[in-house]
Amino acid sequence: MTTDALGQLDLDHLFHPSTDLRTHGRTGPLVWQRGEGVYVYDTEGRQYLEGMAGLWCTALGYGEPELVEAARKQMETFCYGPLFAGKANEPSIRLAAKLAEWVPIDGARFLFGCSGSDANDAQVKLIRYYFNAIGKPQKKKILSRGNAYHGVTLASAALTGLPSFHKHFDLPGDDVIHLTSPYHYRHAEPGESEEAFSDRLAEELRAVIAREGADTIAAMIAEPLMGAGGVIPPPKGYFDKIQPILRENGILLIDDEVVCGFGRTGNDFGCQTWDMQPATMTMAKALSSAYQPISAVAVPPFMYEAIAEASGDVGLFAHGLTYAGHPVAAAVALRNLELMEERGVMAHAANMGERLQAGLQRVREHPLVGDVRGESLIAGVEFVADRDTHERFPAEEKIAFRAAAACLEEGLIVRALPGDTIAVCPPLVISEAQVDELVEKLVRGLDRVERL
Ligand code: PMP
Repeated sequence: MTTDALGQLDLDHLFHPSTDLRTHGRTGPLVWQRGEGVYVYDTEGRQYLEGMAGLWCTALGYGEPELVEAARKQMETFCYGPLFAGKANEPSIRLAAKLAEWVPIDGARFLFGCSGSDANDAQVKLIRYYFNAIGKPQKKKILSRGNAYHGVTLASAALTGLPSFHKHFDLPGDDVIHLTSPYHYRHAEPGESEEAFSDRLAEELRAVIAREGADTIAAMIAEPLMGAGGVIPPPKGYFDKIQPILRENGILLIDDEVVCGFGRTGNDFGCQTWDMQPATMTMAKALSSAYQPISAVAVPPFMYEAIAEASGDVGLFAHGLTYAGHPVAAAVALRNLELMEERGVMAHAANMGERLQAGLQRVREHPLVGDVRGESLIAGVEFVADRDTHERFPAEEKIAFRAAAACLEEGLIVRALPGDTIAVCPPLVISEAQVDELVEKLVRGLDRVERL
């Protein structure tokens, strides 16, 4: 089908998620046709370097024959079987066992889902179930943070800390409390060090706990490095300072590893990069390199045992998706993790991450750029009208969208995020030459952006 014909059908029939729907009605879609390695191609055959790994997810890149083969074989052998009522399939058992080797939570069990959002919804439900089970039913509130992104289903969207995900949806509701975002570049006082800023955030946490009562707060959810909210790494000392406060108050730490998990920040998980000791963990995206939709919640033994015991009241643990532990998704995720091990992808990604961060120093001096931040193979570039005062561009200038569009013209995909930031998050298998190409195209893209 021609590009024009596809574009018309799209405009007539497709409801695009997370899209400026009014603009889309005028511009129509950009339609991808195929991908290979770190490159994708549109319906006109034009090549782009996929600097965002799709949505932070195509870790092993495009067209990986081993993952295609894993899916094909599993579809042929056994295309579907539920995990309900104690039934199982081999790939989901083996994937859970493989995850137990990777995940730094001793004795964890893995509850599978289909997306990061449903997994974070499951986190909220598991937390409720757990505290009801241990006789603390008033412990229900969950702490999150401004700029957090945890998904779009009702509970996970409530956890998300971005206004556009709440307005018009009657969210976030009463059970989620958003703390100040750990966004040093925007929220630190002039001259305030990262450590001092972290101290202030820890004080805020203490004050919120004192105000609400520790007996009403069940958990805090945090991405190690915030992704979609602006690529915001934790300021120095942040997790060291807040974790003891959570522990003292019996508040469980939920670690959202949907973006950071599986090598993105230079270690297997973001919690290792920033020394977090979470109670539970959410994973998705790179878990299957996005070849299949699959997510997982790591549940520690103390929660599992309490939940299993309490579920006796109703005869079953009454939560589960039809496609939880889908054998094809599990087989692909398992092969994905095996390939990461066999090919040393974690070490390669850490090396490429160093090269990317070093290369991006070139962008720091660009007149439109206020801040360049990130860790290893994830980075954010924030634009400001005034580099000294950090004054923003007027919203109607849509500076980040225009910058992303300019990069696209150069054949590089980056993503515009709220807060005038563009994100870079390439597949983990990117080569040295491709990292250099990414930086070069980014610089050329930014040079195209005109001040209005
Ligand atoms: N958590 C984080 C940290 C995410 O970045 C995302 C998606 N970008 C989600 C959860 C939700 O995942 P999904 O889009 O698969 O529902």
